[in-house]
Amino acid sequence: MKITGDHQLIKKINKYIVLDTIKRHFPLSRADISARTGLNKATVSALVNELIESSFASETGLGESSGGRKPMMLLFNERAGFAIGVDLGVNYILAVLTDLSGTVVKKRRVDIAETGADALTDKLKKTIRKLISQVPSSPYGVIGIGVGVPGLVDDQGSVLSAPNLGWTDVPLQSMLAEEFGVDVVIDNEANAGALGEKEFGAGRHAANLLYISAGIGIGAGIILHDQLYRGVSGFSGEVGHMALAQDGPLCGCGNRGCWETFASEKALLHNARTAIEAGRPAAMQAGLRDTASEADEADEAMKGIRPSAAASSRSVTEEAAVSLESLLRQAQRGDPEAQRLFTETGRWLGTGIANLVNVFNPELIIIGNRMSLATDWIKEAVHETLDSRSLAFHRSRTSVAYSQLGQSSSALGAASMAIQRFFSSMKATWE
Ligand SMILES: [Zn+2]
Repeated sequence: MKITGDHQLIKKINKYIVLDTIKRHFPLSRADISARTGLNKATVSALVNELIESSFASETGLGESSGGRKPMMLLFNERAGFAIGVDLGVNYILAVLTDLSGTVVKKRRVDIAETGADALTDKLKKTIRKLISQVPSSPYGVIGIGVGVPGLVDDQGSVLSAPNLGWTDVPLQSMLAEEFGVDVVIDNEANAGALGEKEFGAGRHAANLLYISAGIGIGAGIILHDQLYRGVSGFSGEVGHMALAQDGPLCGCGNRGCWETFASEKALLHNARTAIEAGRPAAMQAGLRDTASEADEADEAMKGIRPSAAASSRSVTEEAAVSLESLLRQAQRGDPEAQRLFTETGRWLGTGIANLVNVFNPELIIIGNRMSLATDWIKEAVHETLDSRSLAFHRSRTSVAYSQLGQSSSALGAASMAIQRFFSSMKATWE
């Protein structure tokens, strides 16, 4: 009869609600759960016992009594399993191993020079394997892997296009699922970053927010009414390709004048190289030499190769030498040219953000990923431009924050996607 099916469904839903309540509010007693959820005590007790049996909850000592018997307190067993979250950047891989609450247990960061699909997926697998070898023993082990990638991902977890990596049609989800034998979730890195900040960082209290992932490219994760807005095909948030100039620089997407050709890390580095090639201030050139000698120490192959500040064409050595980090060091040392480059990038960031504020009227904009490292140097320019370019009615209730999770927003968001997936599939198997 249909009633049985309904009963089963209701039980699953209730059990999920009880688990979720324990996850969010532990330590708490069975009576607390009953009060929070409105479920009767007998139902809560039965469901809690099942959750204890399956290792998701455990009993800890007796809590404070409000008169009468002291209640047994319950904990969420955060270490019943572990998730892996990866941010596949264009010039780095950042991977975290977290418990089921998203607390980071281990972290690995690997710089990448080669972005070809074969080389990069090899490196990615190696990084994940290394983390898996460090997973503490637990009832469920590794429950899943989440990966944020800088590109368009279809609902099968294939990367359809990632211009800054030079990838098209890479079946990343099936590749990793096959390799590691666990559930794998692939999503756009800005979506993952938005979820990370919403779940654990600056966006915890905002229902409508835009997370701007400003790295080599620029993307946005859009959260509306507490939900990630994905668009009809799952491709929302490609804000880096908003056209800001009819005849601007050529973008990786094939168009000209996209936002990311002005406001990204890539644009910043390009402008820095142009300034150096134009022989602009001596301090910049000195900075470049400093960086190059550090690279010399790090890499035998680089020994003896020093980029000339007067070089007329851009060499590989120079590509490697100018970095966001070296420019930050220069700005810190008071180099006006480096500071000017950050201000210019900040202005362009502010211009695009003003457009987004006018369109979405969000309560919060979070600037994350690599450019948030430069917060001190871009902040003023971002805010000034935003103030002068967004409509007053729109910006009055919009605040701008910088990633609270540092560089880990996407990796943590990807881990949280894997955790969510795990609990949803658990729910499906409950009887
Ligand atoms: Zn573009």
